[in-house]
Amino acid sequence: MKSQPPGFIVTVSERFVKREKEKARALRKTAWWQRKIAQGRCHYCGREFSPSELTMDHVVPIIRGGRTTKGNVVPACKECNSRKKYLLPVEWKEYLQRLQTQEQKK
Ligand SMILES: [Zn+2]
Repeated sequence: MKSQPPGFIVTVSERFVKREKEKARALRKTAWWQRKIAQGRCHYCGREFSPSELTMDHVVPIIRGGRTTKGNVVPACKECNSRKKYLLPVEWKEYLQRLQTQEQKK
């Protein structure tokens, strides 16, 4: 067992996680998702990427009960995706706020 970062409470079953991950794999192959990543924009930082650089991110992580639905998945660049994974929710919020203030300064 990997230890979880503090503040990270797992409330879902392994079966739930497995099922939602399988759904994500299937959703990645749909025309809907292909169109999304073809736009080439990261949902979080808004920067442009080639479709192959964008990953599928669950806004509410599966591990916190988020489901693989069109309303809960967004294209994210690798940087945002890995930050989201490793930051605490509060740190992630700060990161997003920082991105927004950078946008406003432009
Ligand atoms: Zn990004």
